[in-house]
Amino acid sequence: MEFCSIRSLEAVCLGSSLGLAGLFYYIYRNKRKTVDKLNEAPQLAVDGELVNLLNQTPGKCLQYVVIEGAVQPVGEPLRSQFQEGTVGVIEKLVLQEHKLVWNSFARTWTDSERVLHQRVNAVPFNIVGSDQAVVRVLCPLEATGLKMEIIHEKFHQANFGFTDIIGQYLSGEKPKGQLETEEMLKVGATLTGVGELILDTDRIVKLRPPSNGAEYFLSTSDFEALRLEQEGEVMVWRVLASVCALVGVAAVLWVARRYYRTLQEKWEMDRLRREFRRISEEVDDGRSAGEEPLENSCVICLSNPRSCVLLDCGHVCCCFSCYQALPQPTCPICRQNIRRVVPLYQA
Ligand SMILES: [Zn+2]
Ligand SMILES: [Zn+2]
Repeated sequence: MEFCSIRSLEAVCLGSSLGLAGLFYYIYRNKRKTVDKLNEAPQLAVDGELVNLLNQTPGKCLQYVVIEGAVQPVGEPLRSQFQEGTVGVIEKLVLQEHKLVWNSFARTWTDSERVLHQRVNAVPFNIVGSDQAVVRVLCPLEATGLKMEIIHEKFHQANFGFTDIIGQYLSGEKPKGQLETEEMLKVGATLTGVGELILDTDRIVKLRPPSNGAEYFLSTSDFEALRLEQEGEVMVWRVLASVCALVGVAAVLWVARRYYRTLQEKWEMDRLRREFRRISEEVDDGRSAGEEPLENSCVICLSNPRSCVLLDCGHVCCCFSCYQALPQPTCPICRQNIRRVVPLYQA
C-alpha cells in the first residue's frame, strides 16, 4: 500500500532518534545506578579502627566505601622529568601535535590535535590517614575520575621557511607546534578513593576495583565534588535521552499525520467515484428510455456523458474516468490547473 509507506528520510530520522534515545537512556540508567551507589557508600576514616572494623566484617571485605587521605609511596617515589624536586606516584607524559587543517566545508582553518606519544608510569602507593594508618591503593590506572596536577607544560613552536608555507597552502595543513605536558599525582596530595576495601592475608588494608561491577573512583577533589560531578553527568545523559525521545515522538506524529491525510484523500476520491457512478447510471437510464443520441459526450472518449465540473476554470468537458486518466491535473480545454473536481448534476 503506497499510502502507508514511510519515506526514507522519515525512516532515518525515526530510527536514529529512537535508537539514540535508547542508547542514551541505557547510559543514563547506568550512570544513575553509579550515583545511587556513591550516595549509599559509607565514608570511613582511615585510622586504627579500620583494621578492627574489617576483622569484624564477614569475608574481611567492605564492598563499596569512601576513604580519604594523603598519598604516600610504598617505596621510592617517581621524580619529575622537568621539575626539579617534584615527586609523585603516578606520572603521565604526553606529547601532542597541534596543527591547523583547512576545512573546505566551512572554508576556514580549524584546530586539530593529535597525541604523538603518551607514557604513564606508576609506583605502588598508600593513602595515609590519621595516626599513620594506611590503605594500599591497587590498580590506580583502572579508576575513573583521576585528574592529576599538570606540573609541566611547554609549547614548541614550529619554524618554517618560505617553501614550507607554500607547501602548507597546497596540502591544507599548517603545523603549529608540539605541546609537551607532564601530569603527576604528587606525594602528599589528598586523594579520595571509592572502591572495595579488604584486609588482605598480609594484614594490609587494600582499596581495589569493586568485584560487584560498581565503578572504581580515585579523585584529587573531595567526595562531595566527585558526587556532584557524577550527578551532572547523569543530568546530561537524561537531557540527551529526552531530546532524542521527543524527536522520535515528533517523527511518529508527523508520519501519522501524513498517513491520515492520505487516507482522507482516498476517502474523498471513493466518495466522488460513487457519486459519478450514480449520476452516469441515471443518465444511462434516461438515454435507454429516450433513445436519443448523446450530444454532450466527453471530449476525450466521445462516448460517456460529460460529468465533471473542473475548478477553478469551470469547464465541463469530460467524464470522470477520463478525468482520472489525465496525465497531469490540467484542464484539457484551457490547460489551467485543476484544483478540485465536482460532479455535474443535470436536472
Ligand atoms: Zn470520457
Ligand atoms: Zn478549463
